[in-house]
Amino acid sequence: MKLSELFKQKKATLSFEVFPPKSWDAYNNVKTATEEIARLSPDFMSVTYGAGGGASATSASIAENILKNFGVTPLAHLTCVSSTKQAVREYLAELSKNGIENILALRGDIPNEGLTVQEYRYASELILDIKAAGNFCIGGACYPEGHTESKNQKEDIRFLKEKVDMGCDFLTTQMFFDNNILYNFLYKIREAGINVPVVAGIMPVTNGKQIQRIVKLSGTYLPQRFKSIVDRFGDNPSAMKQAGIAYATDQIIDLVANGVENVHVYTMNKPDVAAQIQANLSEILK
Ligand code: FAD
Repeated sequence: MKLSELFKQKKATLSFEVFPPKSWDAYNNVKTATEEIARLSPDFMSVTYGAGGGASATSASIAENILKNFGVTPLAHLTCVSSTKQAVREYLAELSKNGIENILALRGDIPNEGLTVQEYRYASELILDIKAAGNFCIGGACYPEGHTESKNQKEDIRFLKEKVDMGCDFLTTQMFFDNNILYNFLYKIREAGINVPVVAGIMPVTNGKQIQRIVKLSGTYLPQRFKSIVDRFGDNPSAMKQAGIAYATDQIIDLVANGVENVHVYTMNKPDVAAQIQANLSEILK
């Protein structure tokens, strides 16, 4: 099913993200984890894609498996920054042949060593090519705290509007740990004329070290309430996991209470985390 249709049909959605392995060696372990998540029957599952395109085959294979064998709608991520237009066309043809209808169109991070191919500069250019390639439902990424390369949020929202106008059917947000940041962002993008559904991306932080890496990469703001949890439980894996799931659950309940009812959880191939969050929300997301 196209996600644009799903968002019209269902008042609230809960979806999970998985990431494919870089090589076929690790494929079976990841496949098993994604299958366990698929058995929970989320509204859809997104499957990430390596920025360099190296894991594109494993990414397509995981997406195809959850659709064919578990009936779960996949959202296949696709990055363009290191790809040729020809490679993108071939990949889209493969996805289409296998019944995949939803693509999250991304630029990808620019590698530290620079680019060897330069056929795409921005996700908006990829969106135009996806539209030309077939009848896909297309999503884009958005950043409630601004993208790290943007001069300021106003400029980021201007480019986001251009991206949506090129053909985004919906947006998924970068993770955030303070819901007020999302509420302010939604107000600003609606004012700027961006009216597509916005899926809120929530990351349950289940290990103390993970959060240091996340903050370094994305510059995400951490509220004191969250920092206190990591300070207190960061060195105790089982306590951190319980607290991280509780924090994410609390965030989602507040979002739903305030009318943000499409929630995407960055479950990072962890079926137990996905299952616990789903159980915590069983009455809330009805
Ligand atoms: P763009 O929308 O192209 O924006 C990139 C930057 O360029 C922004 O600063 C924007 O303001 C600016 N910009 C846009 N258009 C213009 C223009 N015309 N002129 C000047 N500046 C412009 N990465 C992966 O490698 N694999 C994944 O699977 C993946 N999944 C993700 C899922 C989500 C929900 C999110 C939020 C991010 C994901 N990423 C993934 C990370 C993403 O690839 C990076 O954040 C990347 O740096 C930007 O990608 P984008 O599609 O947002 O880029």
